[in-house]
Amino acid sequence: MPKIAIGGLIHETHTFLEKLTTVQDFENRGVNWGQDAVEANREVHGYIQGFVEVLEEAGAEPVGTVAAAAGVHGYVTDEAFELYTGALVDGVRDAMPVDGVLLSLHGAMVAASYPKAEAEVVRRVRSVVGDDVPVMVTLDLHANEDHELTDAADAVFICKKYPHTDTRETGAAAATCMLKTLSGDFEPTMAIHKPGIISPSIFQWSEAPPMSDFRARAEEWERKHPEIFYTSIAPGFGYADVPDVGATVIVVTDGDKALAEEVARDLSNFMWERREELARKPILKTEEAAERAMQLASEDKTPVVLADGADRTGDNTMLLSALLQMGAKNLSLSSMHDPQAARDCIDAGIGARVKVRCGGWGQASGEPLELEGEVTHVGDGEYVLTGPMGKGGKVRCGPSATLDIGDGNRIIFTSLNHQVRDAEGFRAFGVDPLAMDILIVRSRIHFRAYYEDVAGAIVEVDAPGMGPADLGVLTYHNIPADTYPVGRHWS
Ligand SMILES: [Zn+2]
Repeated sequence: MPKIAIGGLIHETHTFLEKLTTVQDFENRGVNWGQDAVEANREVHGYIQGFVEVLEEAGAEPVGTVAAAAGVHGYVTDEAFELYTGALVDGVRDAMPVDGVLLSLHGAMVAASYPKAEAEVVRRVRSVVGDDVPVMVTLDLHANEDHELTDAADAVFICKKYPHTDTRETGAAAATCMLKTLSGDFEPTMAIHKPGIISPSIFQWSEAPPMSDFRARAEEWERKHPEIFYTSIAPGFGYADVPDVGATVIVVTDGDKALAEEVARDLSNFMWERREELARKPILKTEEAAERAMQLASEDKTPVVLADGADRTGDNTMLLSALLQMGAKNLSLSSMHDPQAARDCIDAGIGARVKVRCGGWGQASGEPLELEGEVTHVGDGEYVLTGPMGKGGKVRCGPSATLDIGDGNRIIFTSLNHQVRDAEGFRAFGVDPLAMDILIVRSRIHFRAYYEDVAGAIVEVDAPGMGPADLGVLTYHNIPADTYPVGRHWS
C-alpha cells in the first residue's frame, strides 16, 4: 500500500502591490496543519480532494503535511514562506519513508528571497526524499513557471479551466500519474516551452477564444497520441514582475521525450500566433461601462453583472460613484473591502442609520466615498461556496456588514478582500443577487462560474486599478526583454 505525502502552498503574488503577504494573511484564510491538510479538504472541491479520492480508491495512504493559501497581496514575506515550506518539508520528513509526494502549489508565488518560489519548495522536498521518490505538482492556470520547476519535479499538471472548475480533476490526474508511475508501467517525461507572452487575467476565459482554441489543439494532439498523458496550457499571471513571468506549456508523456517536446513547441508556437488576442482587447472604461449597465438594466436584462476586473485591493470607488451619480437603483456591490466601514456598521447594529467613509485607500482606487444608510446585515463574513467553483470551500471575509443606502442600493462591506464566485457572495450578506438590477463584483473571470448562466448581461470594466487590462500602464524591470507585449524590446 503506497504512502503518499500531500502538501499545499498556494499564493498568487501580485508584485506591484505594496502590502506584503504575511503569516496573518495565510491564517486569515485558515491553514490546515498535519493530517488536517487531507481531512479538511476531502469535501472541498479542489486539487487535494482529487489527490485523496484517487489515492484512497486505489488503497494508497495519503499523509497530510500542511495546506495553506492566502489572498492576493504583494511579495510573500520570508517568514511566511519559511513557516509553511518548513512545515511541508518537516511533514514529509516525519512521514518517511514515503513512496511519493503530491503537492498542490499555485505557480505564481513570489517570496521575498525566492522569485521562483514553487521550484524552491520542490527542491527542498526533493532534498528530503531523494531522486527516486516521485514528486508531482499541480498548479493554477495563472502559473508563471520555467524549467527550474520541471527540473525539480517529476510531473507538473496545470488546471485547464478559468473559472477554475476542474481543480479536482487536475488533482485526480496527478494522483493517477503517481500511482501508474509507482506501479512501474508509466515513465513520466516532461517538456516545457514558454511562448514569451504575458496576458491580463480578464482575457483568459477558458470557454472563449483564444484559450478555447488552444485547448482544442491540445486535445487534437491527445487524440492522435495516447502516450500523451496531460497537456498544460497556462496563460500565466501578468501582474508579476518576475523573470519566469508569462504563458507556459507543459506536456507529460509516457516515456516519449521527443513527442513531449514536439507537442509543447507546437502549442507554444500556436499561442504565439494568437498573442494579440491573449494580450490586448478593448474593454469599456468606468463611465462607458456604467452607462452601458444603466442601459441594459433599463431594458430589463437583469441582473447586469459589472466585473470590475482591475480592482485588486477590493476598495475601488470609481465605478460605484459613477453609477450612483447616474441614478442607479436596485444595485449591490460585493464587496467594498474596508474593515473600518464594516466595523462602523457592526457597532451601529442592524436597523441603525449610519454614515460611513469607505474605500479609496488602495494604490489606484479613487477617492474615499461617503455613504449613508440603514444597516441591514452584520456577520462574521464566513460562508460556504455552493457554485461550480470550489464547492464546499469556506470563504472568510472577516467582520462584514451590508448598508442599504436608498433606492434599493445595498453595499456590502468586508474586512478582507473578497471575490464573488457564486450566489453566496451576495446571499451570505443578506442580498439576493438574482433580485437585483445591477451587481458589481471584484472579479475578472471566476464570477462567470455561476453568473454566466444567470446574469441578464455581463459587462467587463477596465476601471483604474492594480490589475489593468492594459499591462502597459505597469513598469516591469525583471521580465525578459522580448516578453510580448510589454518587454523592453516591444515598448
Ligand atoms: Zn488562477
